[in-house]
Amino acid sequence: AVVTRFAPSPTGFLHIGGARTALFNWLYARARGGKFLLRIEDTDRARSTPEATEAILKGLSWLGLDHDGEVISQFARAERHAEVAQQLLAEGKAYKCFSTPEEIAAFREAAKAEGRSTLFRSPWRDADPASQPDAPYAIRIRAPQEGETVIRDQVQGDVRIRNDQLDDMILLRSDGTPVYMLAVVVDDHDMGVTHVIRGDDHLNNAARQMMIYQAMGWQVPVWAHIPLIHGPDGKKLSKRHGALGAQEYQAMGYPAAGMRNYLARLGWSHGDDEFFTDDQAKAWFDLDGIGKSPARFDVKKLENLCGQHMAISDDAALRQEIQAYLDAAGRPALSDQQAADLERAMFCLKDRARTFPELLEKAHFVLTSRPVEADEKAKKALDSVSNGILNELTPHLRNASWTRDDLEAVLNGFAEAQGTKFGKLAGPLRAVLAGRAVTPSVFDMMLVLGQDEVLARLTDAA
Ligand code: GLU
Repeated sequence: AVVTRFAPSPTGFLHIGGARTALFNWLYARARGGKFLLRIEDTDRARSTPEATEAILKGLSWLGLDHDGEVISQFARAERHAEVAQQLLAEGKAYKCFSTPEEIAAFREAAKAEGRSTLFRSPWRDADPASQPDAPYAIRIRAPQEGETVIRDQVQGDVRIRNDQLDDMILLRSDGTPVYMLAVVVDDHDMGVTHVIRGDDHLNNAARQMMIYQAMGWQVPVWAHIPLIHGPDGKKLSKRHGALGAQEYQAMGYPAAGMRNYLARLGWSHGDDEFFTDDQAKAWFDLDGIGKSPARFDVKKLENLCGQHMAISDDAALRQEIQAYLDAAGRPALSDQQAADLERAMFCLKDRARTFPELLEKAHFVLTSRPVEADEKAKKALDSVSNGILNELTPHLRNASWTRDDLEAVLNGFAEAQGTKFGKLAGPLRAVLAGRAVTPSVFDMMLVLGQDEVLARLTDAA
């Protein structure tokens, strides 16, 4: 069975690159009936914070990337990591190194002066155990010095590293703490991880991690190192480009489904398909579709996809997500009445917006209450007709049966009788009903607001 994992370091929020890594692992596991695990790599005690862990969990939850089982803390497993180092020591696959930091620095200095490789070669690798002092020591892996290590990467292809370019990496420091590289391998092994999909900034680590797998005789997982995300200008993604936390995208009002679709397309493709549902993404996602060059972040594309996803969303679900957005953005919550009205109006809102703020702007007519206040543009539209016309319209609407067909007939007939076109009346009516110049169609608004409310707003304005 497939087991993937997301292994963020809790040193900051869940950034876009991390969110995409999580999504790829989630898609891969979910499509194959596998498991998607979450491990918090909190071994760097100085830089890890509980707030960052919280932010990562919240970001994943917003994106709907649910994980299986408990959240695993890497730091909590330090004893197990040390145990593996001890096992390698006992088997002669690792050795005690008593070299002090000063001795290592001196070694490097001399190597540099003589133009040799500065990779540290510990004199303790082949020393007679009887000569070992009673002093603090690190445990170093006995790395192969000849031949090469081959990383079979699903994205990058075979990556070859000459073994004489690798040193005997420390597994356990002299203070007894395991190094990060050991922790990752032991955790991935113990968690039964079969596929590691992660940023290609970890490709160099893979060679060192491979040594540990080989020394332990453990099965190496399938590796897929994905290219990083760049800004629209092709440079490294920066804050300016959208290197924001996932939650900031929530607070900007992007629907999670659109964000998932967009993130899936960042560095992965399925033919020419841009827009797809979660089910399609799960059915299609494969490591073969991951590109070798860095993807570029493009907000326009994100917004277009978000718009398309809103258009096909369930009204109640969309209303709920908008309420969560308001909360995340620190905007006032909707009353129960407003929430119900918003949901009723959703049919004429959801195919006209790319973000929740845009949708809410279009929803103003149903969220506001009398007397409706007109903004500058709406005031201008109102000034273009005489109040008399609106007064004359009122009895016609009072007698209308309030179906779309009837309303269209009444308004078109009325416009004709006035020697004008409905189009000329639409602006003033938008102003009366919504206090805005840009709104859903007048008929849609009338149907949503209902006859009494429409008549009352007309009376207010006339
Ligand atoms: N903790 C690492 C990071 O946040 C990921 C390590 C891994 O996926 O193996 O970049």
